[in-house]
Amino acid sequence: MQTKYVFVTGGVTSSLGKGIVCASLGRLLENRGLRVTIQKFDPYINVDPGTMNPYEHGEVYVTDDGAETDLDLGHYERFLGVATSQANNVTTGRVYLEVIKKERSGAYLGKTVQVVPHIIDEIKHWMQKLGETGDYDVVITEIGGTVGDIEGQPYLEAIRQFRYEMGSRNTLNIHLTLLPYLEAAGEVKSKPSQHSVKTLLSFGLQPDVLVCRTDRPLTDDVRRKLALFCNVDQRAVIASQDAESIYEVPLLMKEQGLDTIAVERLHMEEDFKDKVLDAPDMDGWVRFLRQLKEPEGKVRIALVGKYVEHQDAYKSISESFILAGAANGVQVELVQILSDGLTTDNIEDRLATVNGVLVAPGFGDRGVEGKIEAVRFARENDIPFFGICLGMQCAVIEYARNVCDWLSANSTEFDPDTECPVIDLMEEQKKISEKGGTMRLGAYTCKLSEGSRASEIYGGKSKVKERHRHRYELNNVLRYKLAEHGMHFTGVNPKRDLVEIVELPEHRWFVGVQFHPEYRSTVGNPHPLFASFVRSCVAYAEEKDNILTPKGPRREKKIHLASAKM
Ligand code: GLN
Repeated sequence: MQTKYVFVTGGVTSSLGKGIVCASLGRLLENRGLRVTIQKFDPYINVDPGTMNPYEHGEVYVTDDGAETDLDLGHYERFLGVATSQANNVTTGRVYLEVIKKERSGAYLGKTVQVVPHIIDEIKHWMQKLGETGDYDVVITEIGGTVGDIEGQPYLEAIRQFRYEMGSRNTLNIHLTLLPYLEAAGEVKSKPSQHSVKTLLSFGLQPDVLVCRTDRPLTDDVRRKLALFCNVDQRAVIASQDAESIYEVPLLMKEQGLDTIAVERLHMEEDFKDKVLDAPDMDGWVRFLRQLKEPEGKVRIALVGKYVEHQDAYKSISESFILAGAANGVQVELVQILSDGLTTDNIEDRLATVNGVLVAPGFGDRGVEGKIEAVRFARENDIPFFGICLGMQCAVIEYARNVCDWLSANSTEFDPDTECPVIDLMEEQKKISEKGGTMRLGAYTCKLSEGSRASEIYGGKSKVKERHRHRYELNNVLRYKLAEHGMHFTGVNPKRDLVEIVELPEHRWFVGVQFHPEYRSTVGNPHPLFASFVRSCVAYAEEKDNILTPKGPRREKKIHLASAKM
């Protein structure tokens, strides 16, 4: 069966929410019975975003097969509920690396290696790769950046050639633009979108669908004008109006028939006989949205990290809280706390109003002492505590220092000469000097101890698989001594005997995990650890009588979810 390809480009400005539009269309087509995947092409030279600072790029999202990818893949997985892989995120750096490797091995048989055809062919190869597996009916490809960017040109040429080769029956071009409202003129302006489509045309690409980001409803007048000057059907001019939550976007797209346009233009009813449903069944999604928008209360949870100023640095964690909050009937208000400034003197003040503490993942020593302080405060005051990756490592250091009385306990990441390295570099990591893609990455098995909180949270399972991204580990030499002092190790990697989960059973909810559960929350299926942690924070808040119930109408205007970037 011929796979259908949808290409999504962006114009006018970045940050219009291309990833969310792709994920929304993907979910609608999935709910019409199709097998869908989404891939992202990023026009930068880094081979992957793994080496980039979170301030630069936001969160790095990790797939099961250990790829370090763009955070949009997190949206794809959360919206579709389908795992992505290495092949779902390709960068210019990766494309060039592949071409140069082939050139060095003589694969081009003495030819001059050039952008056209070699780089373009390599891009086309990646565009087709997922489709060729036979696992998908539709492959949606998002092109990062904005049309007109110098670095994006090869991708536009690749789409042009791809469409020429596959035919318009099998390919669909969607262009996302911005419709700004000019206060002075009192009008929505369509000219930037027209220019953007002109730029696209100069690369030989005619969009089939225009999705217009706007802060107000699209008038018929503007719709007509855009259709006429951009040469698209009027009904294929779709408004992507600002929404309180990104999870509303699939329904906004459905109302305007985006999925139907895609099904028709790609002739899917004929080509995938008896498979395509007449309309996407979004009942489950609507139920989820109702839970999300009508919380029965609000619970404040501290997110202690060093990248809190960057709204995308902990994207999967904040989305996991949104999803876990909805499942628990509450709105989670994340209180972002910069770990750098936390000290014994101010911790009580800073954490006074929260009902739970999450210590975030991270790299390098900045802010670590503040994170350790946050762990101590949560542990000593019996406040629900969740440590992820570095957060778990901080929990171990804190326990070693303050309970076992090993005052010099540390990670060798922060003090290479510490006498008490409770967290240490894995043996094989000691030989590695290259930074890109060399951590312990991707899904590994974790065996759960019977009767532990972890095993209960995972519904009694004895083994689970979770995704990793770290170099350091709990030191097995000191592990047994820590256990003697009361720390429980309830999740272990069976092959390598590496600690995956630590717990304090006397505490109401104290769990640290070496892996990243946040990468596995999807709509309707928040990760069980997040769901359980939020439940415990709600119980704590109720006990302390500080659960914040929304007053008056249950739906608040300025719902916290609005901060989720489109
Ligand atoms: N810096 C720590 C390590 O490399 C933790 C990494 C993380 O939190 N993702 O092991």
